[in-house]
Amino acid sequence: MPNRRRFLSVLSATLAGTLVLHACGNPPDKGGGADGSSSAPAADVNLETKTITIGYVPILEAAALVAGVEKGFFAKHGLEVKLVKQASWPAARDNVVIGSAGGGIDGGQWQLPMPHLITEGIITNGKKVPMYVLAQLSSQGNGIAVSNSMKDANLRVNLTPAAPTIIGFPKTEGRKFRAAHTFPHANQDLWIRYWLGAGGIDPDKDIELLTVPSTETFQGMRNGILEAFSTGDPWPFRIVADDIGYMAALTAEIWPVHPEEFLGVRADWVDKNPKATQALLKGLIEAQQWSDKPENKAALAQMLSSRAYFNAPVSVLEPALKAEYKLGADLKPSNDPKLGPLYWNSDRGVISYPYKSLNLWFLVESIRWKFHPGQLDTIAQAQALVDKVVREDLWRQAATDVGVPAADIPSGSSRGKETFFDGIVFDPENPQAYLDSLKIKR
Ligand code: CA
Repeated sequence: MPNRRRFLSVLSATLAGTLVLHACGNPPDKGGGADGSSSAPAADVNLETKTITIGYVPILEAAALVAGVEKGFFAKHGLEVKLVKQASWPAARDNVVIGSAGGGIDGGQWQLPMPHLITEGIITNGKKVPMYVLAQLSSQGNGIAVSNSMKDANLRVNLTPAAPTIIGFPKTEGRKFRAAHTFPHANQDLWIRYWLGAGGIDPDKDIELLTVPSTETFQGMRNGILEAFSTGDPWPFRIVADDIGYMAALTAEIWPVHPEEFLGVRADWVDKNPKATQALLKGLIEAQQWSDKPENKAALAQMLSSRAYFNAPVSVLEPALKAEYKLGADLKPSNDPKLGPLYWNSDRGVISYPYKSLNLWFLVESIRWKFHPGQLDTIAQAQALVDKVVREDLWRQAATDVGVPAADIPSGSSRGKETFFDGIVFDPENPQAYLDSLKIKR
C-alpha cells in the first residue's frame, strides 16, 4: 500500500521533526507472547478524524504518550496525535475547556479526579465540560521529597517517629513545616495528605500545605523555604541528584501499584469520533507495552530527554525509569523495578485498564478532606460520577482488537480491596468503612 506508506512517512516526519520514525520501514516492536502485543492490525482509513490534540506535563506519567508518537504506534492506527506540553495543571484544565478548535486541547494526561471535576464544572467556574477517562497512563513513579535541612529527622514512609519534629517545627523556625504539591485536590496533594495523616500529622492544621508548580518546588527547596514536596519523577529524583534533599517516601511504598495519572478526553470528541478513539487507545496500549519493557528504558529516556519533550538530562531520566532510587536521608540504594513507574505489567494486573474502583478512591478521598462542600459530599454522588466518566468498555474493545490476551483484560469494574502501607484498607464495595477507619479527616 504505497499511498498509506507515504502518508505514514510524511506523518512521521511531521511529528518528529528531524527524527526518522519507524511507521513504514521498521514497524514498531510487536513484542508478542507474554505482554500481548501480538498482531499489527492495519490502520483504519475511515477514521472520523485523522488528528487529536493531547496535552501532557513533562513527568514520567507522560512517557507512553511520547513513545506512542515517537515509535509510530498511533500513526500505525491512522491517527496523528499532536502532543502539546502544558505549562502547568491549571493550564491543561483551561486548555481542555477551550478544546482544540479554539487552540486548546481535546484531552490529555490528568491527575485524578480532574476529569471528574471538570465534567461537573467544579474546578472550571461552573462550566461543565463532560469528559471520559479512557485509560490509566502509569502507576507509581511519584515521590515525596524532603529538604536536606530535615536530614537528622530522616523522614521515611512511616512518619510516626518524626512526627514530633514536624509538629514542633514552629518552635525552632518560627513558622510551620512547609510542604507543597503541584495542583490542589488531586494525586500529589492526596499522596502527601495520606502520608502525613498516616503519621498522625494533620495536613491542614499542623503544617502549611501549598500549591506550587514543579519547577518552583525544586527552587523552593533549594532556597530553604520548603521542607517537602510531592510530585512526579524526575523532580524528586533531581533533588537527590543535585544534593538538595532526599526521597522520604515513594508513592509505591505508600500504596503499591496505586493508580497514578490517566488519559482523559472530552466526551464530545469521543462521541463524535468513536473510531479515532479506538485508534488512540490501541496506539496507547501498544506504547505502554513498549514503554514497560526493561530493554526499552534507555531508548525511552533518550526520547523523553529531548528539548521537544522534557528537556531534561538522560542521566536523571534513565535511573528514574529504571527505579534506581536512593531512599531516606542515608541515601540507601534501592534497585527494585517493582517500586518504579509501571506502564503495563504489575502484580495487580494490567496498568492501563481504567478501573472504576480506583477512580472512586480519588472521589472518596475528596469527601474525606471536604474539598468540594455542597458539590461533592456523598459516596452515592461519587459513584454516579465515576459511572458517568469512566469508559472501561472502550478500553476493553481496543484491547481486544489489538490482541491483548483475554486473561489480561479485566471483566469487571473493581480491582478489589486496596491496602495502604499503614494497614488501612479501601474496599470499593464499602467506601464508608474506609472513611470511618481514618483518624485524620474533615
Ligand atoms: Ca503524578
